[in-house]
Amino acid sequence: MCEPEVIVPVLVPVAVAGAYSYKVPADMDVRPGSIVRVPLGPREVIGAVWDGEPDTKVNPKKLKSILHVYDTPPIAEDLRKYIDWVAAWTLGAPGMVLRMVLRSEEALEPEALLSGVRYIDGMQPDRMTPARSKVMELVENGMAWTRPGLAGAAGVSSSVIDGLKKQGVLEEAMLPATPPLPDPDPTLPGRKLTDLQQGAANQLCEAIGKGFKAFLIDGVTGSGKTEVYFEAVAETLKNNEQALILIPEIALTNQFLNRFEERFGVRPAEWHSQVPPKRRARTWRGVANGEVKVVVGARSALFLPFHRLGLLVVDEEHDTAYKQDDRVPYNARDMAVVRGHISGFPVVLASATPSVESQVNAKLGRYTKIVLPERASGAEMPTIKGIDMRCDGPERGKWLAPALINEIQQTLTNGNQVLLFLNRRGYAPLTLCRTCGHRFHCENCSAWLVEHRFKGKLVCHHCGYSQPVPDKCPECSKPDTLVACGPGVERIAEDVSALFPEARVLVLSSDLPGGTERINREMKLVEEGEVDIVIGTQLVAKGHNFPLMTLVGVVDADLGLANGDPRAAERTFQLLAQVTGRAGRIHGKGRGLLQTYNPDQPVIKALLSGNPEEFYAAEIESRENAGLPPFGRLAALIISGPDRSLTEKFSKSLAVNSPSSEGVQILGPAEAAMALVRGRYRFRLLAIAPRSVDLQGFLRNWLSTAPKPTGGIRVQVDVDPQSF
Ligand code: ADP
Ligand code: ZN
Repeated sequence: MCEPEVIVPVLVPVAVAGAYSYKVPADMDVRPGSIVRVPLGPREVIGAVWDGEPDTKVNPKKLKSILHVYDTPPIAEDLRKYIDWVAAWTLGAPGMVLRMVLRSEEALEPEALLSGVRYIDGMQPDRMTPARSKVMELVENGMAWTRPGLAGAAGVSSSVIDGLKKQGVLEEAMLPATPPLPDPDPTLPGRKLTDLQQGAANQLCEAIGKGFKAFLIDGVTGSGKTEVYFEAVAETLKNNEQALILIPEIALTNQFLNRFEERFGVRPAEWHSQVPPKRRARTWRGVANGEVKVVVGARSALFLPFHRLGLLVVDEEHDTAYKQDDRVPYNARDMAVVRGHISGFPVVLASATPSVESQVNAKLGRYTKIVLPERASGAEMPTIKGIDMRCDGPERGKWLAPALINEIQQTLTNGNQVLLFLNRRGYAPLTLCRTCGHRFHCENCSAWLVEHRFKGKLVCHHCGYSQPVPDKCPECSKPDTLVACGPGVERIAEDVSALFPEARVLVLSSDLPGGTERINREMKLVEEGEVDIVIGTQLVAKGHNFPLMTLVGVVDADLGLANGDPRAAERTFQLLAQVTGRAGRIHGKGRGLLQTYNPDQPVIKALLSGNPEEFYAAEIESRENAGLPPFGRLAALIISGPDRSLTEKFSKSLAVNSPSSEGVQILGPAEAAMALVRGRYRFRLLAIAPRSVDLQGFLRNWLSTAPKPTGGIRVQVDVDPQSF
C-alpha cells in the first residue's frame, strides 16, 4: 500500500491572491517556511512553503511536485506573518511581498568553495630558507590564501608550499571563497556622550531584549542622534541579537559606514541596489544564518530574513525615500514599526524634522518621544533670515540677491564654506524659442525637457528620454533663438563662478556621471575643505557633516510650496530645516538665508522664527480639521492606460461603482499630478476614510465588485500615498 500523498501550500512570486498547492515527493522533507523551487506553467520559480491548509478543491492528479528544497534556513514564522500582513495592508499579493524577501536567487545556493592554504598555529619549518620565510611572513597573521595567490605573493614556486605542507606547517583545505565578516565589537568605548545623549541612550538600552516598543528621537541637526542609537546597537549585540539600521540615501552610506567603524571597529554589512550581486548574496545568507550582526541599508533591507533581529533603527525617518511607489507600494518607516510589533523588538525612529504622523503618534503615546534640543558639540543652532525677493531681489536674469552675495563674500573671506541649495537638477527647467514660442516637451510624459548643459542634452526627469540641445528651433527653424528659462543648479554655478572667479565651486547633484563613487569622492573633498562653494540639490540636505560650512543660502525657498499637494508644507519645512541645519554644525555661528517671495507664508515664518513647534502645531491642526492622515486614512487608485479617453472612461466607471460605506469619500477621477508618464495616461481616484473604517476591506470589496480593466488599462492601489 502506498503512503497518502503530502500536499502543501506554496507561495510563489506572482501577483495572485494566495498560495498554490504542490505535492511533496516522498523523500523530501519540508515545513512551513522552507524555500523551494517549483514548476509554474512553463517556468520554474522560487517560492516558500506557506501556512494554512492546501487548496483541496484541486484534483491531486493535476498537482505538480516540489522540485527542490534549498539548504537555507526556512522563513521564520514571524517573517511569514509579516509578509502576509504587508500584503493585506498594501492590497498586494503575498507572493510579491515574498519576492522582496527572496530577492537574490544566488543567495540560496551555498557559496562556491576554494582550495585554501592556511598556517597551523605554532608550527615552524624545521629549516628556514629565504623562500620559506617569505611564505611564513604572509601566513602568520592567520589569513588564508589560495595556493596560486600565496605562491604569487611570496614570489616562490608551488613546491615550497608542498614542502611546508609535508612538515605540517601549512594545511590545505576547502574554504569559502570569501572569509566571513568580522563581528562589530560592542565593548569598544564609544564617544563621551553629553548628559542629554546619555539619558536618551539609557532609555533605548533599557528596552533592548524586552519586546516591542517604538521610540521617536526628535533631535535637532547635530544633536548626536547617531551616537545615541549606536549605544542601543551595542546593547543589542551584547544581547546576541542582530540590528538593522535603515538610512534614506545610499549616497550617504560611505560616511555612515566610516562612523560605524569608528564606533565598532569594523564596517557593517551594506544592503542597497548598488552592492554587487555576489556580495548581496553573501549578506543575505549571513543575515539568515545569523553570521552578519549589523546591516546598514536602504528600505529594501526591511525584508531581509534576519535570524534574530533585536533592533530596527530608521534614521531620517521623515524622508520620502522610504516610500516605495511601484510594485508593492509601502512606506518603510511604517512597515518597520509593524515588523518590530510582530517580531517583538524595539524600533527607533530618528529625525531632526519628524514626520507629522510620527509626531502625532508620539503625542498619542504610541511612540516614546526623546527630545534632544541641543547640538552635541555645544555649537549653537544657525540663525535663519529671509531675503524678501520682492524688494531686495537680484537684477533681471540673475538669481542671487545682493544680500546673499555679500554674505557669501564674507564667509569666503573668513575661510569658511558656503552651500547654495536649489532643488532643481540641470541648467534650466524650461527651454523655449524666443521667436515662435516653441517649448521643448517630453514625448512620453507631461513634463518639460530640462536642459543639462554639462551633458549638452535636453532631458526628461520622469522617463529619462533625452535629445541633444539643437542649434535651431525645430518648429520655426530659426538659429540662435532658444532661451533657457529659470535656474537649475548648473546655472547657479555659472553665476557663482562669474561672481567669485577665485572660489572653488562644486555642483553636487545625483544625476552627474560617476554615480555614488563620484559623490563620495566629492563629499569628501567638501569635508576636507577643498571646496569653497557647493551648489547642491536635495542630495546635500541629507545627513552629511561638513565642519567648515557656515553659510547656507536657499536660492528658492518657495519652490516646493507652489504645487497643490497637502503634504507640500511639511516637505518644504523638513527640507529647508535640514538644509539650513548643515550650517555651523561643529563650531556654531552658522547662518541660513532664505530667498523668498512669500516671507509671510506659514512654513517660511516658522523657519524664520526658529520655532518648529509652531509649525507642527498648525500643521497637525489643519490635518485634523481636514480629516487627512494621520487622522483620516487615505488610498489612491492610479488608473493608467495607453489610450487617454478609454482610461478616463474606465476611471469614471470605477468611481460610479464604488460601494457606499459610512464616512468614506471618493474623490475624482482627476488627472494625476503627472498625467502622462512613459506613454501611459494616468487618472487618480482618492478614497478618504475616518480611522474607524476598515479601508483595506472597503478597497477589496470595491475592486472585486467593480468592472475589470481591459485594453491595457491597469489599476494600482497606493494605500497612504505620499502625495495626494
Ligand atoms: P545628528 O544625527 O543628530 O545630526 P550626529 O550624530 O551626526 O548628529 O552628530 C553631529 C556631530 O556631532 C558629529 O560630527 C558628531 O561626531 C558630533 N558629536 C556627536 N556626539 C558628540 C559628543 N558627545 N561630543 C562631541 N561631539 C559629538
Ligand atoms: Zn518623459
